[in-house]
This record gives sequence, C-alpha cells and structure tokens, in this order.
Amino acid sequence: MKNLRFRACGLMGLLLLCLPLSVTAESSTWPGGARAAVNLAYDDALASQLDYVVPDLNRHGFRGSFYVPAAAPLLLERLEEWRAAAAQGHELGNHSLFHQCDKQRPGRDWVAPHRDLSQVPVQAFAEQVALANDFLFLVDGETERTYTPPCGDVQVGDRDYLTPVKPLFLGAKAIGAGGVTPSMESLDRFGITVAVPSEVSGEELIAVVEEAARRGTMANFTFHGVGGDYLSVSREAHTALLEHLAAHPERYWVDSFVNIMRHLQDH
Ligand SMILES: [Zn+2]
Repeated sequence: MKNLRFRACGLMGLLLLCLPLSVTAESSTWPGGARAAVNLAYDDALASQLDYVVPDLNRHGFRGSFYVPAAAPLLLERLEEWRAAAAQGHELGNHSLFHQCDKQRPGRDWVAPHRDLSQVPVQAFAEQVALANDFLFLVDGETERTYTPPCGDVQVGDRDYLTPVKPLFLGAKAIGAGGVTPSMESLDRFGITVAVPSEVSGEELIAVVEEAARRGTMANFTFHGVGGDYLSVSREAHTALLEHLAAHPERYWVDSFVNIMRHLQDH
C-alpha cells in the first residue's frame, strides 16, 4: 500500500524546518473507508461449513472463502450446495487435489503414506494444483483463484512447493503467524498470515479483528469446523464474531479473499 509521505509546514516550519510526517494510507484504501479488511476462510470442505457457516454468513450478507480439496468427499456429495454457495458470492478456493502434507514433520502421523507431500515431485504437485483449479472451474465457472497450501506446507527440505504455482493465483495464505497483517507495506500476497482458531471464545476472535482495525490492515482467519467436525470453534464464538463485524460496517470490510486480493491488485 502507498505510504503517503508529506510534510507539515507551519510558518515557523517554512523558516526553520518542515517536519516529515509519515502517514499510512491503508485504511482509506479499503472500500467504504473501512479500517480493516476481514476474510473469513474455511478449509477442507466440512459438513458444518455447509450446515452452519454458509447460512450464518448469508444472514449477515458476508462473503466467505471455502478452500476445498478437489478430492474431499463432501464436494461431490453436496455439489449443488457448494454451487449455490458460490452463486451467492462465496469463494471456492484451491486447497490442492488431495490435501497432501509433509508426513515427515512432527505431529503428522495422521497423514496417509500415499499422501505424503515429501514423496511428491514439485512439478507433479504443481500439475495437481493446476488441475484442482480446473476442477473448481467446473464447479463454479470462476477463472481467478486464491490458494491455501494444505497444512501450510510450502517447503519440504530444500524443495519449494509454492513458487511454481504462484502464477495460478491472485494470492495465497500462510498458515500460522497470527491473523493480523502487521503492515500493508511490502505485503507478500503469497504469504498472507492467518489465524487458525480452534476452541477459542468469541472475545478472542473479536480481539483479532479489533487489532487489525487499530493497525489499518487485514484480519485473516482459517477456520475448519464450526459447531462440529474438527479443529472446531463453537457456533456461539463464530456467531459472536459475525455479529461484531456486522455491528461495525464502517470499521470492517468483510469479503472473500479473492475479492480482497483483487482490490489490492487494483489499488
Ligand atoms: Zn486443509
């Protein structure tokens, strides 16, 4: 984002010195003059997202982002519901074909051996991610996407799994490091940090967006289950966040990640 740098010069200043002031202009670049952009994202195509999240977002007129692995069983089982969500303005984001993660990392016993990212050549993975975009095109007809790397794995050993797929996307999320974008300057649109809330209160979720508004930046959440499934937050906590956002439209611009990335690209 632009950093407007101008000088405050009074009469004395003209004679002596002009004070350089650095004023960040991020907040004024969000639609409606909002202080922060907020993206609510939901990974892995889970039932609670269709059952609760889509209706709850719609109730407030919010557009969310749903990162669906193409091979997720629920994608085809409830295809018409995903299509309806997309038609309502929600984003279907790329979360790869098979949700492969690096099984060699600690805590990754759950990764099936045949889905161990460390066993997949980078180029093969890049082709799969491209195919996942094609698959999503058949679902919703969209041609612009964003990406959330499964498990946040973009590096396995010395192999970089992100750079080869960057041309396919307007932006990508980086799992971890918190949901508040520290600064809009020198923003890496392929490393937008997210919070991954699980078993948190509504107050804790609201604190994230309030901090983003204080900084004039962005808040990004990657949820999984809401009121069910895994890595869950309660529906109450999630609803508290939505109600806080809805109560302060002048403060928050809530939209899909692809729309936020389009906005950053255009401004
Ligand atoms: Zn995932």
